[in-house]
Amino acid sequence: MKYDRILVRYGELSTKGRNRNKFVDKLKRSINRVIRNFPTATIEADRERMYILLGEEKVEDIAKALKNIFGIQSFSPAVKVEKNVELMKQIALSLVQKLYQPGLCFKVSAKRIDKTFELGTDEMNREFGAHLLINIPGLKVNVKQPDINLRIEVRAEAAYLYCENILGAGGYPVGSNGKAMLMLSGGIDSPVAGYLSLKRGVEIEGVHFYSPPFTSERAKQKVIDLTEKLANISGTIALHIVPFTEIQQMIQDQVPSNYTMTTTRRLMLRITDEIRRRQNGLAIITGESLGQVASQTLESMYTINQVTNTPILRPLVMMDKTEIISLAQQIDTYDISIRPFEDCCTIFVPSSPKTKPKLDKVEHFESFVDFEPFIQKAVDNTELMIIRPGESLKQNVIEDLF
Ligand code: ATP
Ligand code: MG
Repeated sequence: MKYDRILVRYGELSTKGRNRNKFVDKLKRSINRVIRNFPTATIEADRERMYILLGEEKVEDIAKALKNIFGIQSFSPAVKVEKNVELMKQIALSLVQKLYQPGLCFKVSAKRIDKTFELGTDEMNREFGAHLLINIPGLKVNVKQPDINLRIEVRAEAAYLYCENILGAGGYPVGSNGKAMLMLSGGIDSPVAGYLSLKRGVEIEGVHFYSPPFTSERAKQKVIDLTEKLANISGTIALHIVPFTEIQQMIQDQVPSNYTMTTTRRLMLRITDEIRRRQNGLAIITGESLGQVASQTLESMYTINQVTNTPILRPLVMMDKTEIISLAQQIDTYDISIRPFEDCCTIFVPSSPKTKPKLDKVEHFESFVDFEPFIQKAVDNTELMIIRPGESLKQNVIEDLF
């Protein structure tokens, strides 16, 4: 006996009412991207559930890949069989035999969706249970806490049998909750913020500010590598690399040093917002975490945030650094993030940035220059890179995340 399919359950999607078809479509696309690496596997989907039909592939390999796909609540390797009680019993026996070890107990959970089937639910539970007890010496029944739960679903077209229920990654399929711009620095936090956004179904485009010659190609490469890690989860990601040197130098000339950090952040936000507008995004995502550094006090966030009404999503805002690091390690971005590099912000960072910058003050300092044409120029000169999933996708580096 060989599993011929994997039954995929959508979970949270079921709350989505009329949008369901769109969600199923996005999920199908996410699964398709992974299934492409398994040439003989195919997908069959309806509104309720999805089946991955297995060809030559090992079920374990596909299961490992499915665990990383957002929007899957759980899945089960299963066998489809004709609605013939004798055949079904044979399959039931080989499924349980495969998992049985001395001392394990079991139960049968039958479901009769096709009401014309000759056996009722209780009858199926009893008959299949008896068949297993007779044929597997030592096997015991435990309906409250079974080690093996044999499920039998009798549907209109056939019966499906399976024992395992493997937890998926949860969340929503990537792209099912709109698009946002992820401000990616090269540090530890922003890739994690990107990962959590993807988990909620948000499609992301990266925005990175760099200041040549003060920041090197290596720093840029780091952001490309981080984006590739995220692309392994979401599929191709657009990365906008913004030349920021000219504006940073203007800020140094115009603004008192303890306010340069605040103005720098405000301008980064204005530029990101302009890119968002041009790309039809709906929000901006940052890796900010409350209180972590001077720019991330509530006073700073308030003053910086005044430049836009666009929603700013901060998935890490209430997380501790240790939690963020642990997530970064799980998604395999940590080792890239800790490579030494020069960030455009750290290079120009003042020795004592204001931790409680005042809005009226920063607005006053900025009022002497019209930054708008420089913002447009930076956006016009922004380099667009298309980052595709890398080789690591095939090895499924992100294992057993949740
Ligand atoms: P990270 O680990 O993501 O670099 P951080 O703790 O170093 O964050 P900051 O340097 O204050 O914190 O940056 C806060 C957020 O601002 C970052 O998470 C990122 O979203 C954004 N940001 C900072 N620098 C850049 C940059 N050079 N390009 C794009 N976004 C940036
Ligand atoms: Mg940083």
